[in-house]
Amino acid sequence: MRALLSIDYTYDFVATNGALTTGKAGQQIEQALVDVTTAFIQKGEYVVFAIDKHDKTDLFHPEAALFPPHNLAGTFGRELYGSLAEVYRQNKEQTNVYWLDKRHYSAFSGTDLDIRLRERNITEVHLTGVCTDICILHTAVDAYNLGYKIVVHENAVASFDAQGHEWALRHFSGTLGAQLV
Ligand code: ZN
Repeated sequence: MRALLSIDYTYDFVATNGALTTGKAGQQIEQALVDVTTAFIQKGEYVVFAIDKHDKTDLFHPEAALFPPHNLAGTFGRELYGSLAEVYRQNKEQTNVYWLDKRHYSAFSGTDLDIRLRERNITEVHLTGVCTDICILHTAVDAYNLGYKIVVHENAVASFDAQGHEWALRHFSGTLGAQLV
């Protein structure tokens, strides 16, 4: 069984004026991301929106020293960007669509994602969203260590760092045994 993870495609990470934006690179994957997400939802396959959630007063969070505040709880910056928001809105009541708040780069860190995937006999995770070399990468590494087969949708991942993006794609296939599609 397969699941699609839709990671961090929010205003802060994608909009031109987002707090930690991937800019054009992120905006260019919108249609591909919407298409693959819609296809999984329509086939009844499990789709997880794994979305960063931060709290401005959480001074102990390691990202507080690394990045400007982003994806703060209750802010517009944390809303899904563009037409992906509509895909979520129209399907959020479906039993195969799940919103997952995450606190770290990896969608597995401190969440119930692994348990939910195993309950559904899911052995293959498909990765989409941003950033290729941060949250997608850390999620992929955890998926690898947990024994999942990994598929990365090359046209539905992006980063603000073009070199980091290319490096991460090589790492997915060369080191994590991921399939790039
Ligand atoms: Zn973050």
